[in-house]
Amino acid sequence: MSTPTRIWSPISFEKEGKQTGSLRLPISSDLSAYGWIPIPVVCLKNGKGPTAVLFAGTHGDEYEGQIALFELAREISPDDVNGRIIILPSLNFPAVEAGRRVSPMDDGNLNRVYPGKAHGTPTEMIAHYVTSVLLPMADLVVDLHSGGRSLEYVPCALIRPSADAERHARLMQLVSVFGAPVSYLTDGKGGGGNTTLPASAEAQGVPVITAELGGGATLQHIGKQIASNGVRRLLHHMGIYRDDSLDVPAPTRFTEVPTRDYFVYADDDGLFEPAVAVGADVVAGQLAGYLHSIHRPTSAPVELCFPVEGMVACRRFPTLTRRGDCLFGLMRDLH
Ligand code: ZN
Repeated sequence: MSTPTRIWSPISFEKEGKQTGSLRLPISSDLSAYGWIPIPVVCLKNGKGPTAVLFAGTHGDEYEGQIALFELAREISPDDVNGRIIILPSLNFPAVEAGRRVSPMDDGNLNRVYPGKAHGTPTEMIAHYVTSVLLPMADLVVDLHSGGRSLEYVPCALIRPSADAERHARLMQLVSVFGAPVSYLTDGKGGGGNTTLPASAEAQGVPVITAELGGGATLQHIGKQIASNGVRRLLHHMGIYRDDSLDVPAPTRFTEVPTRDYFVYADDDGLFEPAVAVGADVVAGQLAGYLHSIHRPTSAPVELCFPVEGMVACRRFPTLTRRGDCLFGLMRDLH
């Protein structure tokens, strides 16, 4: 038997109606020996229908999803729900409070520590709570991200391909319902691999729709709209929350990231000057940008080229760059 979570809550996920409160992440510090950190949670339950679990704030500096879920949590009445909706708009709350990707408590990146540990660091304890308490209740999980401080993303949804054909078809259907302009399939190459929420959820057979909605640690209105409409369409599709006001989305463009060749990395320190915008279609050998040396102002900048043809999915947002930083990520149309 797995070790029980140390996180507790006055919220009961079995109680009918709308509850707003927090999960309580235990801490024991110099100034708070028996304390807890609040992780906001809203639970709406009406009867015995399916359960959707909605996350934002897995990374604290990604805002479109956080605000889209605040709005949803305010608007939905349990009378309109058939089943259960559990909303955690600030899942790694210490990171949200600090405006950072990672938690200031342990430098933990919540989407790199799944399945988590019951007796681990604060970030590992949150991942373990998701894996051991929330995923077993869920028929659908949505996890809303954007590029954060270091990346700008083309607004898109993503799924982790499943080896199980039926599960895979279900994910393809759900991501189409979400209706982002672009939907891409990735097993986390270049990112988190098997340490992510979708990897943990796959082991339990729970479908996860992730979204990347903008970036640069700011708020893009279009990304917030995509998140809001996509979540509502999914809830409607699952029969959990009826909303007839939503338009049918335009068909999504399915893409994939087949290899590491689809990333451009800095091989020097310098100032990064991108030559293309996210969303652009590029060809192999095309100029991607420049790296200017801060030490040698009269030296020509390093010219960076795209190794393959594709669409620019994301680019590095800060200009100051270190060797090893990811400058661009590409996608190609799904084959
Ligand atoms: Zn993120």
